[in-house]
Parts: sequence; structure tokens; C-alpha cells
Amino acid sequence: MTIQSMNELFLHGLQDIYYAENQITKVLQEMMSQRIDTALFDNLEHHLEETQEQIKRLEQIFRALGQTPQGVTCQAILGLIEEGQELVREIEDENVRDAAMLASAQAIERYEITRYGTLVAWADEIGRSGVVDQQQLGSLEIVDLLQLSLDEEKNQDARLTALAESRINRHAAA
Ligand code: FE
Ligand code: FE
Ligand code: FE
Repeated sequence: MTIQSMNELFLHGLQDIYYAENQITKVLQEMMSQRIDTALFDNLEHHLEETQEQIKRLEQIFRALGQTPQGVTCQAILGLIEEGQELVREIEDENVRDAAMLASAQAIERYEITRYGTLVAWADEIGRSGVVDQQQLGSLEIVDLLQLSLDEEKNQDARLTALAESRINRHAAA
């Protein structure tokens, strides 16, 4: 694929995060299938639901742009997932494993924050130049939908920090 304009770069970014979000639904379910802390389980379950909504949001955006929803391989998310899974497999102690898993989940959130942050900025800029700004989705514009997902990722990042500090890290260190 050659990218020749800011619009195409933006589309590529959407495809990258679309691929990543689909991988994330799998890894969240994989984490939840293990024996993990109940509060961590509840957190991941809640974010799995948010992730499924984020995927639908991206599909709405693709359609508003006249594009078929499709992903492009995101090496970064594959690497983050693989690294986390390898580490978790090496840990026998359940509490220590929870701490490692939480940290891995949080690294994924940080990746999403950087990508959605960029996409919000690009959508805002493209909208200014009139290319995307007619694209209304109900009462929301593309930039607003991306901002909703960005806010969810930031909230999840903060919830993981709180959970780590209040509970998971303490149990792991005990
Ligand atoms: Fe997400
Ligand atoms: Fe990527
Ligand atoms: Fe997320």
C-alpha cells in the first residue's frame, strides 16, 4: 500500500487500530480464561465490553468514509501481546503472575492511547480542511467518536493503575 495523502495516512491509522482492537478482544478473553484475581477479572471484563463498542465505532467511521472496515497488521500490538504472554507463562506464583498480567494489559492501553491520540489530532486537522467534517454520524463527528474511545482507554489506564496500587502489586509483593 502506498500512502499519498493525509487522508490515506488517516485511513491507515484507522486500519491499524482496528486490527489492534480485534487482537485485544482475543487477548482480554485469553487473560480472563486464566485463574486471576477477581477484581482484575471484573476490570478486564468491563474493558472487553468497551473494546467491542470501540470496534463498532471504528466500523461506523469506516462506513462514514465510504470504506469497508478492514485491518492492517499492527506489529506493535502483536509484539506487546506476545511479550506479555511469554512473561506470564514463566511465572508460577499466581499473585506475581497477576501483577505481570496487569502490567501487560496496561502497556496495551498505552499503545491505544498513543494511536487514538494521533487519530483524534489527524481527524481534527483533516476536518478543518473540509475533507472529513461533513461526515456526521448521528449527531457525532468522526473526531468525537475517536475522542470517546481515547477517553475510555485513558480511563482504563487509570483504573489499572488504581487496581495495581491498591491490591495487585501488594498481593504480589506479600
Ligand atoms: Fe481499545
Ligand atoms: Fe500499529
Ligand atoms: Fe483498551
